[in-house]
Amino acid sequence: MVAVKNDPRPLLASLDTPITSPCEKTNGAGVRFPSQRQTACVSQSVIYLLVTALRIADNSSWRAACTGLPWRMIAARFFLLTAMGYGVDSMMTRQQTLVGVFAHPDDESFGPGGSMARYAAEGKQVHIIIATDGIAGSVEDPKHLITHDTLAQVRSRELSNAAVALGVTSIWSLPYRDSGMRNTPENLHPAALFQQPIDALVQQLAEYIRRLQPGVIVTHDPFGGYGHPDHIRLCETVTAAFHLVRSEAQRNGNGYPGPQKLYYTAFDKRVLKLIVKFMPLMGKDPTAIGRNKDINLVEISGWETPVHAEINIEPYLPQKEAASRAHASQYSGGPTFVRVLPSFIRRQFLINESFTRAYPAPNGAVEKDLFAGVV
Ligand SMILES: [Zn+2]
Repeated sequence: MVAVKNDPRPLLASLDTPITSPCEKTNGAGVRFPSQRQTACVSQSVIYLLVTALRIADNSSWRAACTGLPWRMIAARFFLLTAMGYGVDSMMTRQQTLVGVFAHPDDESFGPGGSMARYAAEGKQVHIIIATDGIAGSVEDPKHLITHDTLAQVRSRELSNAAVALGVTSIWSLPYRDSGMRNTPENLHPAALFQQPIDALVQQLAEYIRRLQPGVIVTHDPFGGYGHPDHIRLCETVTAAFHLVRSEAQRNGNGYPGPQKLYYTAFDKRVLKLIVKFMPLMGKDPTAIGRNKDINLVEISGWETPVHAEINIEPYLPQKEAASRAHASQYSGGPTFVRVLPSFIRRQFLINESFTRAYPAPNGAVEKDLFAGVV
């Protein structure tokens, strides 16, 4: 096993409110392990058995060897442990897991937040890994920085609150710096995600996959959504880690079979092409949008991200919106091109989240469930 350079740091400890998803009985990592009490119980019972075996060896008499041992307690413990073992096993096989890997605090909410909330509410384990601190993000309103030292601290807190709103099992934070948009000085910072050796990143992500054992993984598309270098690097990293763990699992053939499905977040570019045509009529320039006017929708509308899965999130829009609002330093009510749409069209645009199926190869159908076929 390859050592992980930086141990995962769950943010759950910093949450203001306990997470109340159906998976709240898991430990901090969201993975079920025997409790310390169960482990102590097993150890004590094994000691009793060893003592008995030694006494038998010494006395050659069952009756003498067994004298004075608390047999009723031992029998009760074995009965309970067996029952708990079956319980844990059945929960492990019954409960499916989704891992979402995203670049910045807010990508999990502004992106496929509805799907994260939906699967958490449906009883799946949903773990989210955020690769950077988001320190290069621009601030919607400077008042959000008044009580904190840095934007990274603000965004860490916002991420914790968004996790509560989405109801996910856990959030994990990787120790990298936001690389900023293309061709900015932030790209060159030695701690930037973009500057990390890709082999080390792949090994780190693979270790998370081994530990969290997802059936389904979701991450950014190969164009990085709107071309963000961190999104692109993460897509490459997660894709490589996905196949690494799958091939390991097939070689070893025991326990975790490896992740079964890999999805990229997708955008129906037919809709975007229409929006690009519509924007000049509203007095908006589609080649320079966003707070920093550094997003070119005309260019982005040419990046094909085919839709192989469309997840209805209508019942979970309130959770997605609450999680988005939790990212108050970044929140502006949604991208400009969505805000210019009439509300009834905007709603239709928002009630489905789209994904490209990177593995297994798509079969022509548009899935309505990311877990379809996952065993
Ligand atoms: Zn991002």
